[in-house]
Amino acid sequence: MRPKKGASVAKPKSPKCRTCGKRIHVPKGWSAGPAVRRHYWRVHRDVMQPEKSGR
Ligand SMILES: [Zn+2]
Repeated sequence: MRPKKGASVAKPKSPKCRTCGKRIHVPKGWSAGPAVRRHYWRVHRDVMQPEKSGR
């Protein structure tokens, strides 16, 4: 049995945003989850907190 290099079972490092469909860059040492969260907070903040509208 040969160990396969590269292609295959590795987890996808760049998750895609469900909202805008863009690839989300995962900073070094981060995992996908927090990176997605960060993207949401930066780009889709209104999605994260739909009820809070400052008036
Ligand atoms: Zn997005």
